[in-house]
Amino acid sequence: MLQKIILASNNTGKINEFQALLKPLGIEVIPQGALHIPSPEEPFQTFIENALVKARHASQAGQLPALADDSGICVAALQGAPGVNSAHFAGPQRSDADNNRQLISALSKEKNRAAHYVCALVLVRHPQDPEPIVVQAQWYGEILEQARGSGGFGYDPYFFIPALGKTAAELTAAEKNRLSHRGLALQKLIHQLQGSSAHQFN
Ligand code: IMP
Repeated sequence: MLQKIILASNNTGKINEFQALLKPLGIEVIPQGALHIPSPEEPFQTFIENALVKARHASQAGQLPALADDSGICVAALQGAPGVNSAHFAGPQRSDADNNRQLISALSKEKNRAAHYVCALVLVRHPQDPEPIVVQAQWYGEILEQARGSGGFGYDPYFFIPALGKTAAELTAAEKNRLSHRGLALQKLIHQLQGSSAHQFN
């Protein structure tokens, strides 16, 4: 029988990706929306803390193990901003176009274009779990002045990976899943799930 876990996300792309990758491990992913669990506040300054609060909240509300992710982009010349505020860099309305304009304007006189995406994943077996699985991964690149490509979402058209000579928006979905901060974090999580009997769900 599949072990059910709640995914503390309402993003269809992420839900499909997590379902596909965790099913071979005997894990059935149930999106929190299917259980009518609302998203909690994310008041913290680090990705890990926000992922932890989302996972605990979903586990408490649904009385099942829960997995949460939190991600964003950190720009070296901006001391890591927009960081956990990536979705709202240009204000509360969450528009990718406005956020990108804000980023390009903040870097207009800047020579250092280094940036990286970050993804934190937290899995709790129950709401009070004292030993959650916590992983974090980065994907390094630089911010272009002009957008390139039409794939992906968010900051992808401006996020250039020098080793590939492409932006994240110029990669196929499969390429991005393999290389990205989220893909790498998920690989780390799977590795930990496979390797540690201490993290059995029951
Ligand atoms: P969330 O973790 O889905 O809330 O994502 C936070 C924000 O970070 C998104 O709204 C995007 O602005 C940005 N972000 C996170 N991952 C990516 C990505 O893979 N591509 C582009 N933007 C991303």
